Amino acid sequence: MSVTKSVCIMGVTGSIGKSTAEVILAHPDRFRVDAVTAYRNVPELASMAVSLGASFAVIADETLYEDLKRALAGTGIVAAAGENALIEAAERPSDIVIAGIVGSAGLRATLAAIRRGAIIGLANKETLVCAGELMMDDVKRYNATLIPVDSEHSAIFQVLEDNALDRIDRILLTASGGPFRTWSRDDMAGVTREQALAHPNWSMGAKISIDSATMMNKGLELIEACRLFPVEQNRIEILVHPQSVIHSMVEYADGSVLAQLGTPDMRTPIAYALGWPERLSLSLPRLDFTAIGQFSFESPDEVRFPALRLAREALRTGGTLPIVLNAANELAVAAFLDRRIGFLQITELVEAVMAAHPSEILTDIDHVFATDILARRWTEDMIAGLCH
Ligand code: NAD
Ligand code: MG
Repeated sequence: MSVTKSVCIMGVTGSIGKSTAEVILAHPDRFRVDAVTAYRNVPELASMAVSLGASFAVIADETLYEDLKRALAGTGIVAAAGENALIEAAERPSDIVIAGIVGSAGLRATLAAIRRGAIIGLANKETLVCAGELMMDDVKRYNATLIPVDSEHSAIFQVLEDNALDRIDRILLTASGGPFRTWSRDDMAGVTREQALAHPNWSMGAKISIDSATMMNKGLELIEACRLFPVEQNRIEILVHPQSVIHSMVEYADGSVLAQLGTPDMRTPIAYALGWPERLSLSLPRLDFTAIGQFSFESPDEVRFPALRLAREALRTGGTLPIVLNAANELAVAAFLDRRIGFLQITELVEAVMAAHPSEILTDIDHVFATDILARRWTEDMIAGLCH
């Protein structure tokens, strides 16, 4: 018999949060939800807190505290608001924290969970991009456990043999190539918000959908993979695999390649993180190999998708550069979603901000936060200049 695990879901109203809620509701005997958090959507947060039977609900936007309190009146669920309440949610003694906030906004709460030695199902890849090595040091120091939720990293985690990092020849990080995989730069210049949001294989939040279209998502995932699985950078290769069935592969020193396959559904890697070290059952459609027919593979094109080159550069240079890359990208994507800049300008902006601000050696976590704030200011100024 397995014991019931308590779960904190950071970002419960998002795509990862909702998929997590579905997996949990399908296993009421295995999980109990302790805390849930969201940014601004009070009605959805309140209704999910009630349906999940949570004890503690946090709205990140402090100005919405009274609204949340009203929405939860009579339910017995404690309402809270603001950054410190997000940290409190992560610090409560739940067994697992699902880090499903988008962007560097999730960093403080994830660190709080790490520092109490929690098991963390990490979807929020931007935190590892920004604070990677410092975060991994804390994971060791506080004896926390990081289980990747990102499908590629979950795949690698699942096929990684114990203490095998020195026996790995290559990690093959697969990429769908996104909706513009076969498009020319000229064609991409006119891409609309709607076209960029329509991913061929996955249904996801807005920011990661745009990241997939520019392939910055794969760039961030490359940095994420280097942090989670510390092999030499040139051993991690990006491989375009448009069917999104092979979620990633590891090639060992003897030439064996181990892969994890599945349908493109985030509930599978989320269930893996929630159940770890056991596997949960999920009644999802299974892979139909004869219907798929063929797998295909291509090399990534760093000319049409400069985000890949920029991410490699940030990784190689290290220091504060990955933080700058991430912050510039977060703001550029938001500006594209607001129709303030064009599609190609997203990576042009990231490149310009990175070029204008040479990397510094990263000293500590406060340096991460300070750089994030500064890089946002630089990017905002540049966007304002462009939109003149
Ligand atoms: P989403 O936009 O659908 O949801 C984001 C969640 O974070 C929401 O609950 C929102 O309320 C909350 N949030 C947003 N800004 C916040 C802030 N400033 N402070 C506090 N909370 C805030 O995003 P998503 O697609 O679920 O992605 C979440 C994370 O998971 C991202 O880092 C993404 O890269 C990663 N991820 C997502 C998928 C996917 O399929 N959606 C797959 C792999 C990895
Ligand atoms: Mg992924």
